[in-house]
Amino acid sequence: MERCDALARHSELAGGLTRVFLSPENRAVNELVLGWMREAGMAARLDPIGNVAGRYEGERPGLPCLMLGSHLDTVRNAGKYDGMLGVVTAIECVDALHKGKKKLPFAVEVFGFGDEEGVRFGTTLLGSRAVSNRFDFETLKAKDAKGISLEEALLDFGLDPKLIPQAAKKNGDVFAYAELHIEQGPVLEAEGLALGVVTAINGFSRLSVALGGFAGHAGTVPMNLRRDALTAAAECVLAVERIGRGQPELVATVGKIEALPGAINVIPGNVTFTIDVRAPRDDLREKAVASIVSEIEGIGKKRTIGTKVEKLQSQGVAACAGWLMNQMDRAVAAQGQRVRRLPSGAGHDGMAVRAIADIAMLFVRCKDGISHNPAESIAAEDADAGAKALLHFIENFAIGK
Ligand SMILES: [Zn+2]
Repeated sequence: MERCDALARHSELAGGLTRVFLSPENRAVNELVLGWMREAGMAARLDPIGNVAGRYEGERPGLPCLMLGSHLDTVRNAGKYDGMLGVVTAIECVDALHKGKKKLPFAVEVFGFGDEEGVRFGTTLLGSRAVSNRFDFETLKAKDAKGISLEEALLDFGLDPKLIPQAAKKNGDVFAYAELHIEQGPVLEAEGLALGVVTAINGFSRLSVALGGFAGHAGTVPMNLRRDALTAAAECVLAVERIGRGQPELVATVGKIEALPGAINVIPGNVTFTIDVRAPRDDLREKAVASIVSEIEGIGKKRTIGTKVEKLQSQGVAACAGWLMNQMDRAVAAQGQRVRRLPSGAGHDGMAVRAIADIAMLFVRCKDGISHNPAESIAAEDADAGAKALLHFIENFAIGK
């Protein structure tokens, strides 16, 4: 808990926490984490994309590893546990092995990924994608709000973008990836449980919708002659909600909406809004997206409003491996806790890492399910239970069983 506090002190936002990729605050926490890793008996370095990477050798040097970790970047005005708790806990576990002079039949590597949230350059998972050999070199051209490209930012940070391929693990280097993370939802708290075993990281689809009506005078155009893009959007938003409610595992959100020209006395002629759909099953999500699109088109037709739906981004479900879930179940049960499995509604680094290894996740209860918010809070006992379960998982890790 103290280490999470120490990391949270490095923020560009006074009185809050904002720490983006390749910022001076990022550099400061990298130094802290590198120091903690070395104290815990790891060889630690910054890799070519700017991840903090620590390695604790197994019974023999050079063995494939069990990879642990999470991310060190934050959203704007963030909480101090999302990401950081997973890094700090993994280091704590290695420290316990080191203090007990315990060597395992595999190495343990801990990653503090430099960019998961994608706040600065608008692309997520830059750190874990590089490690998983899935780095898209086109993203080097992505610019931050000040016009600085990712490539320039890496160079300014003292990193060489040409070396990014060297951050990638090779086939057979990694036996599995396990990440401890706060739940970011209310399920564990509602059931009185400190820990949960993740079944899958939900897939998502993101859409952008543009509605075209006709702007006009709010006083002179009679109601029956209007083509109001905002009232059409209102119907669309409710349709998205209704479809999202249609299945218990599905969620659908309109998070951003803009009406133009945007004046008190003008009928809105153009509206754009976003849709975010998530589900633990790809077929469920794809069906929901199809019905949302057809609903929007139907509403447009009925109201003589032009509709343009653009699919921005989508990502399939990242399922956790059954054999790892079983071992994680046993690690949770060993803490005297009832085993609860649940999907993750939020995205995580495992989505990238699964390209090179099977993945597992352990959730720690957070207060009121709040995250991405300064009110994010966890109990020290829960963090402790999480660390003990993760250590149990590491010490009893059996490949493929
Ligand atoms: Zn996170």
